[in-house]
Amino acid sequence: MTTIARMIRRKMRFVLLAIRHGFAVLLLHGVIGRRCTCGKAKCPNVGKHPLTHHGVDDATQDKARILRLLRENPYANLAVATGKKRHDVRLLGCC
Ligand SMILES: [Zn+2]
Repeated sequence: MTTIARMIRRKMRFVLLAIRHGFAVLLLHGVIGRRCTCGKAKCPNVGKHPLTHHGVDDATQDKARILRLLRENPYANLAVATGKKRHDVRLLGCC
């Protein structure tokens, strides 16, 4: 199993746990080196802002969708939605 596959597998364990506890999950940009995967040279919120266009509105309990997004963005961080506003999220400190 590759390092990326192990990373995705580990993240999916957190996803399943969050879903089991009733949370919807969304992906945040990740960090590679010290840079945010959003590509902005001076990102003000490195690795802690939504990866998808609609932020918290894209939070889901659809495991297949989350897995697909993680395969496309293996360095993404995970968060759970805690409210309806774009920034009503809590980072899952897993990986
Ligand atoms: Zn960023």
